[in-house]
Amino acid sequence: MAAATLTTLEALEESGFVKDDDRAALEAVAARYAVAVSPDMAALIDPDDLDDPIARQFIPQSAELVILPDERADPIGDHAHSPVEGIVHRYPDRVLLKAVHVCPVYCRFCFRREMVGPKGDGTLSGAALDAAFAYIAAHPEIWEVILTGGDPFVLSPRRLADLMRRLAAIDHVRIVRFHTRVPVVEPARIDTALVAALKESGKTVYVALHANHPRELTPEARAAIGRLANGGVTLVSQSVLLKGVNDDPQVLAALMRGFVEARVTPYYLHHPDLAPGTSHFRLTIEEGQALVASLRGHLSGLCQPTYVLDLPGGHGKAVVAASSVQDDGEGGYRIMDFRGQVHAYPPRGD
Ligand SMILES: *Cc1c(COP(=O)(O)O)cnc(C)c1O
Ligand code: SF4
Repeated sequence: MAAATLTTLEALEESGFVKDDDRAALEAVAARYAVAVSPDMAALIDPDDLDDPIARQFIPQSAELVILPDERADPIGDHAHSPVEGIVHRYPDRVLLKAVHVCPVYCRFCFRREMVGPKGDGTLSGAALDAAFAYIAAHPEIWEVILTGGDPFVLSPRRLADLMRRLAAIDHVRIVRFHTRVPVVEPARIDTALVAALKESGKTVYVALHANHPRELTPEARAAIGRLANGGVTLVSQSVLLKGVNDDPQVLAALMRGFVEARVTPYYLHHPDLAPGTSHFRLTIEEGQALVASLRGHLSGLCQPTYVLDLPGGHGKAVVAASSVQDDGEGGYRIMDFRGQVHAYPPRGD
C-alpha cells in the first residue's frame, strides 16, 4: 500500500491512475479542485481498468471543466441557511456544524467541492466555534447536531473529545451525528482513542457512513465499522447514485447488502447534486427511480435506502422514489407490486 495520500497529478501519474491524456485540462482541474487519494483507496484501484469505479470517484478528469448552466457553487443552498459561520440551520430540530473543511479524500462529485479542501473554508477559528456553540445553546429546538464538513473524523481524538464535552453541556441536544467517509477511506483512524472521544458527551451518537461501491467495504473498513458499533455508535449509510460507479442493480444490491452485513443500516441514496463540473456523474431521476425500484422486494427490507434529492436553493431534501400508488378515480387505488403487476386496492370483485 502507498505510504502517503496522493495529492498531486504527478503522484497519481506515477501510480498509473491517470488515463485522461488532456494534461492541460487536468492541471486546470487540479488547480481548481482539491485532489487526495488515501493509501487505502489507492490500493483498491485497478490501474489496468479504464473504468474502475473507485478511480472514477477520486481521479480528476477533464470533464470536470464542463460547467452546465444549471450547476452552482452552493448546489444545496447551505449559505441561505447559515445564521453564524459553521452552522447550517435548515430544518427546525437539527443543525449542521461544519467544524472542519478538509477530507482524507476528495470526491470528484462532491456537492461542497467549492468549500472543501486545503484552499477551502478552513477550520473554524476558536471564536467562530464559540459563536457556533452559543447559537446551539440559545436554540432549545435543536435536538440534534450533525457534524459534517469536510470530514469531522480528520480531527484528533483530543479535539473530538473537546467538541463532545461542549455538546454534553447543552441539555436540549440529545443526538450527535457524524457524517464521515473515514471508516472506509482511512479505517486505521478509527482507533480506541477516537471511539472513546465519541463517548465523552454521554449523548446518543450516530455515524452516517458515506460509501458508494461495494469494494469500498474492505475487511479493514468492516473492522473499523465494528469498532464503532461495539463502542456504542449506531451506523447508517449514505451513498450518492453515480453514473459509472453504482448505476447498476447488481452493484447497488451488493453495496446495500454489504452495509447491512457490516452493521450499517441503509439510510439515504442521494441523487447527485448540481455541483460544478459533475454532469458526467449524473443520471436522470427516471433512471434513479428504476434502480431503486430494482431493490424493492428482491432484497431484504433492511437493504432499502430512501432515494432523495437536495432541492437547490436550500429547500431541503425531498424523496424522489417513484410512487407505487395511483388513485383509480373511483374511490380506490391501483398499487404496483415489486414485480411490476398492478392491483386494485381494496380488491374489487375477486
Ligand atoms: C441533509 C441535511 C440535514 C440532515 O437531514 P436528515 O434528513 O435528518 O438526514 C440537516 N441539515 C441540513 C442543512 C442538511 O442539508
Ligand atoms: S468526503 Fe464528503 S465532503 Fe469530502 S470530498 Fe468527499 S463528498 Fe465532499
